[in-house]
Amino acid sequence: MIPYGRQDISQDDIDAVIRVLHSEWLTQGPKVPEFEKAVANYCGAKHAVAVNSATSGLHIACMALDVGHGDVVWTSPNTFVASANCARYCGARVDFVDINPNTFNLCPVKLAEKLEEAKKSDRLPKVVIPVHLCGQSCDMAAIHALAKEYGFRIIEDASHAIGGRYQNQPVGSCRFSDITVFSFHPVKIITTAEGGMTITNDAELAARMARLRTHGIIKDLTQMHNPPVGPWYYEQLELGYNYRMTDLQAALGLSQLNRLDYYVSERNKIAKRYDELLSDFPVKRPHLIPAAYSSWHLYPIRVQLDHIKASHREVFEAMHKADIGVNLHYMPVHLQPYYRELGFEVGMFPAAESYGQDAISLPMYPNLNQDQQDHVVSVLKEALSQ
Ligand SMILES: *Cc1c(COP(=O)(O)O)cnc(C)c1O
Repeated sequence: MIPYGRQDISQDDIDAVIRVLHSEWLTQGPKVPEFEKAVANYCGAKHAVAVNSATSGLHIACMALDVGHGDVVWTSPNTFVASANCARYCGARVDFVDINPNTFNLCPVKLAEKLEEAKKSDRLPKVVIPVHLCGQSCDMAAIHALAKEYGFRIIEDASHAIGGRYQNQPVGSCRFSDITVFSFHPVKIITTAEGGMTITNDAELAARMARLRTHGIIKDLTQMHNPPVGPWYYEQLELGYNYRMTDLQAALGLSQLNRLDYYVSERNKIAKRYDELLSDFPVKRPHLIPAAYSSWHLYPIRVQLDHIKASHREVFEAMHKADIGVNLHYMPVHLQPYYRELGFEVGMFPAAESYGQDAISLPMYPNLNQDQQDHVVSVLKEALSQ
């Protein structure tokens, strides 16, 4: 079986986790801040707050930006549901901005048009969450310019994109955003099993997210509302959660981080090879904007259904029959039953809907060897000509 994605765990990773098991701390020890510092340094950003998933990270990022009832948050319909759900957790309304059919990312031109409309009816978003699909950064300079013009904040959902770059800066530098969120789920670029991290250059946002991940509790005397009455004293200032990462996870993440650049360069090699091997297939390959160096979490192709006899589903089934675990990233979020109940319908975001009808993510992970890749390509060729 060749899956669409797979983690890589080395003996160093295993040793790092075992060392923590022998230590005094299983959670909230020295490894979490060490991992936070290492990721912040890697990104060239000031602050990082480790959490137990990117979903938690997106939630506390929205909370830190004061997203609440009466607010509107916009994201891409071509993403995992978590990019939209985080706003719903805060009681905000969600809306979507359609994608560019070639990059598959939230389209800045459509964003500008939608903002102009929203301004007329006084329904501008408080936060926009661009998603760096497959590891390619959205056009952040354009989105940031619109944020200045229309006054919204930006959370980058970079769950796919650690190790990627935009305008020669690491994704996560937050040069064009308020907060960036990474995922360390096993199919992503590096893993902590479950885990995530929020990155920001704003000290206040970082402090707010740090307390929201642990029940809204602070131990810092300078922030307390009342004088401490004893050494046991702490204060809960607002309603937070237990979204903490463990030291076991942070040790795994630190060890994986050593191989991040290697992983991303392997993924780039595999993508380049797919580009070559598929060049005369009836498929559209992912298009990169010149400013982006992708981390290639995914390699999706768009099957040109009007050039072949088989249906989208038949191509999928032929690949699965050959034990190749292709997948679709993503079914449009606005067409999920939960979002349809909130009023979204077929036809609202046609570019994302059409992507959902012809896209296939091919296997993509650093240990995919050339023989396996050749096999995927030959099975695909067969599947497209059935
Ligand atoms: C994986 C993913 C998430 C959620 O990540 P978890 O760490 O599993 O919570 C959010 N957004 C996108 C785009 C993702 O791919």
